[in-house]
Amino acid sequence: MVLTKVHSVDPLNPDEDIIDRCCKAILNGAIIVFPTETVYGLGAYVYNVEAVRKIFIAKSRPMDNPLIVHISKIDQLYEIAIDVPEIVNIIAENFWPGPLTILLRKNRSVPKEVSGGLDTVAVRMPAHPVALKLIDCSGPIAAPSANISGRPSPTSPYHVLVDMFGRADIILDAGETFFGVESTIIDILSDPPKLLRPGAMPIEKIEEVLNKRIEIPVFALGYKESEKALAPGMKYKHYAPKTPLIIAKSRDYTDCRRYAEKVKKIAMDLIARGRNIAVVASTETADIYIDLNIKIFVLGSRKNLFEIAKNLFGVLRELDRSGVDMAIVEGYPEKGIGITIMNRLIKASGYRVVDVDTD
Ligand code: AMP
Ligand code: MG
Repeated sequence: MVLTKVHSVDPLNPDEDIIDRCCKAILNGAIIVFPTETVYGLGAYVYNVEAVRKIFIAKSRPMDNPLIVHISKIDQLYEIAIDVPEIVNIIAENFWPGPLTILLRKNRSVPKEVSGGLDTVAVRMPAHPVALKLIDCSGPIAAPSANISGRPSPTSPYHVLVDMFGRADIILDAGETFFGVESTIIDILSDPPKLLRPGAMPIEKIEEVLNKRIEIPVFALGYKESEKALAPGMKYKHYAPKTPLIIAKSRDYTDCRRYAEKVKKIAMDLIARGRNIAVVASTETADIYIDLNIKIFVLGSRKNLFEIAKNLFGVLRELDRSGVDMAIVEGYPEKGIGITIMNRLIKASGYRVVDVDTD
């Protein structure tokens, strides 16, 4: 058990003295939970192998699941990567700071523990004043999400305290994160560039800026493919609450109330079999389930999928406190940020997806 210090800071204008203390601590080998615009990260100074190892222990994370290196200035890119292609300038100009992670060839100075033994390194510049100020002071920080491995990523200080108190040296509490889902990861070393993980940056936007098609492998949508084809880390259980989930997928959500009536039938069937269930619904559909007398969780409006994404991990964690046996979760159209939402839901359910149009 580690003695964890907790500091609260203003997310937009953090106390410089606290940032300075955290910076010194991280350079001395501390592991620190810090806010990013996506989710909270658990960071170590990228060149401190012992500290990087502590991250894997604190999270119970398999050592072959690589971390993302967070930078605050473009110069730092050239410290950690080699053979940086031209396209990175366009990416940096258009998307950084922001929730887009790219793969580059790793500089030997970056310990193999950071990249899970691979010769590539994942890099991004987070759009959060606290993260940027900390990295400006310390230099590049290697960080995965600050959850216990396999659990939903932390989007609020409460989630962080539950998972990381007694495991991290310092927790920097800056309130809720802005997006609530992790960064989008693309492999720009392959041609066409390949999506490794959908995230807070919609793929369509990247395609538009790069003027290039991005290949979307089946596993990036969240569906099962051969274990061998998976990117590192993608083969592990992810984002899962303890409560079993069933994702109710449809071809078409346009008439969302008609869709929800089909979800309701699945719910009624489970209730008839004596299951104590909950439904995870949207503002537009929640009332349809009221007469079932079950717990209803609302993620937000279908008209604003960013809202749904922001609340997703928090609601998955709430399910575990609600005492239900299982939850049926409504699906969302698989485009834009909807791809990210469905990827997280499908993985969180352990691929338990029912098709309401055919089943
Ligand atoms: P997390 O920040 O917890 O979401 O974890 C970082 C994610 O980045 C994991 O899903 C890793 O698999 C992915 N990642 C990091 N480095 C690489 C890499 N070199 N190649 C492929 N994926 C990577
Ligand atoms: Mg993670």
